[in-house]
Amino acid sequence: MSKNDEKSPRAYVFCIANQKGGVGKTTTAINLAAALAILKKKVLLIDLDPQGNATMGSGIDKNNLSGNLYQVLIGDESISNVKIRSETGGYDVLPSNRELSGAEIDLIQMQEREQQLKQALAQVLDDYDFVLIDCPPTLSLLTLNGLASAHGVIIPMQCEYFALEGLSDLVNTVKRVYRNINPDLQLIGLLRVMFDGRVTLQQQVSNQIETHFGDKVFKTVVPRNVRLAEAPSHGMPGIVYDKNSRGAKAYMDFGKELIKRLKKDSRSDKA
Ligand code: ATP
Ligand code: MG
Repeated sequence: MSKNDEKSPRAYVFCIANQKGGVGKTTTAINLAAALAILKKKVLLIDLDPQGNATMGSGIDKNNLSGNLYQVLIGDESISNVKIRSETGGYDVLPSNRELSGAEIDLIQMQEREQQLKQALAQVLDDYDFVLIDCPPTLSLLTLNGLASAHGVIIPMQCEYFALEGLSDLVNTVKRVYRNINPDLQLIGLLRVMFDGRVTLQQQVSNQIETHFGDKVFKTVVPRNVRLAEAPSHGMPGIVYDKNSRGAKAYMDFGKELIKRLKKDSRSDKA
């Protein structure tokens, strides 16, 4: 991965993306951020979704922000001025709310409209080990700004019948961004989430995903776990809300697996 060049800034920038709605993107973004923070990494979580779920789930009131990602994208504010600490999660958040939906229209009129987030991020990349971008359930200009800024994409997916069908659109978009806008972009991996091993179909789809994507599939599987679903209403990551729950343990394992995978990749880069 080209970010490991000695001159490159420190942070790995990863999009958590899937254009399907409700597949566990935000839950993954919040809990991965919290897991990496527990592992002593400095993390910035960017809420690229006007729904503001990553903001709220990190314990920050989206309706009471002095600044948000919208102002950063249109160039009125810097990330340093707008970021807020998630006290429950132990990471920084670049928060969002409904105002961000207006950015789509404003960005269209700007030059280098898909590069606005990347340009703003350049100033803070040395402050963090990881920047995680929680993408909205669209392949919109907002998501394009995320993909243009990132070193890699992490795709959470449910093991359901239509899961693979939607995936090819996303993989093709990632390939197009890689070719035309961002030669650093890689598919980091697929994360199976909300998994229920008692359901035969889920096991079958899980096996299909492994056959199709091989070592691009993370070994960690996140189970369906009610504690993860309850946590956002308490304004905290599931990992913190109930650290002994199966969901929390899985996301902790995922954080460790991701770090291990990056170390392995950087060794093979140097080889
Ligand atoms: P959107 O596309 O709307 O942004 P999303 O992909 O970000 O959705 P989430 O908001 O993370 O998806 O999850 C959708 C719902 O499923 C939420 O209510 C969340 O609490 C719940 N959920 C996510 N992961 C799990 C899990 N492993 N076990 C149980 N519930 C989960
Ligand atoms: Mg979401």
